[in-house]
Amino acid sequence: MRRSFLALLSALLVTLGAAACGESTAPAPDEASEADVATSAEGEDDGWGLRNDPAAQRVEPFQIFDNLYYVGIDWVSCYLLVTTDGLILIGSLYGDFIDNAIDGIRAVGFDPSDLKYVLVTHGHFDHVGGAARFQEAYGARVGMTEADWELAEQPPSDPRYEIDVPVHDMVIADGDTLQLGDTEIRFYVTPGHTEGVLSMEFPVRDGGEEHRAFVFGGVGLNFEGVHRTNLYLDSVARIGRLAAEEGNPIDVNISNHASMGRIFERAEQLASRGEGDPHPFVDPQGFVDWLAELQRNAGEKLAVERELAGE
Ligand SMILES: [Zn+2]
Repeated sequence: MRRSFLALLSALLVTLGAAACGESTAPAPDEASEADVATSAEGEDDGWGLRNDPAAQRVEPFQIFDNLYYVGIDWVSCYLLVTTDGLILIGSLYGDFIDNAIDGIRAVGFDPSDLKYVLVTHGHFDHVGGAARFQEAYGARVGMTEADWELAEQPPSDPRYEIDVPVHDMVIADGDTLQLGDTEIRFYVTPGHTEGVLSMEFPVRDGGEEHRAFVFGGVGLNFEGVHRTNLYLDSVARIGRLAAEEGNPIDVNISNHASMGRIFERAEQLASRGEGDPHPFVDPQGFVDWLAELQRNAGEKLAVERELAGE
């Protein structure tokens, strides 16, 4: 009885995670079937159809800050960061959706051939799937952590997650920085969701005001094990310490899945922002509250993982 409750709870966590972030490390078959049972009980499929429906995924690209644009789809983010010396893409989408990003870059007035870097938050297909194309077509450098290069280079256990693997390029380590024109990006390795999740911070500008934007590169809890869950909790705690830095709070949450950082909700508020109104993406307390929520969810997962491990 207790065993099946745990299995159900675990399946629920897997389902929630899978809905939030596609994974290229497919769950073990028993977990997959449990997740399927959990979702089919609600009369839905595993979300794959909706996540790959061009009409459902189409998002009109939009500007967030003077130097930052959204060029992603509904379920996966992709951001264009504009510098005085070229363009940086954060995330690369996958499959047919790579064209959405390319069209989006043009739609907001830039030339994809000015892309200098594609930064990949982790090696799952939905973030790295377009990297090879940007490398080949525009000569963009591709950067991610060594652990997630290895992940991206492994053949996926589910053929649906197959990608064109980019040529092994920039390996980004904790504490590295990248300077392009007027913009410096600072990197943090924050494992948990994958072994080599890459988080980053950079300045965003709103008229005369500069803000500290942060991308937590692996939010979803669709992974297994006590060790990985502890890594995740450590990563969230570390980001919390960065966020609370004296006089320099992280005040903008740029999430690699739009729904996780209320990106579209804030974009709507931004579209109707009046003269002198605060920028709806600038929300330091919101970032702290969000981290606390991630910590709570991961804490619950840790209890389940411990039970499953017989600890
Ligand atoms: Zn992922």
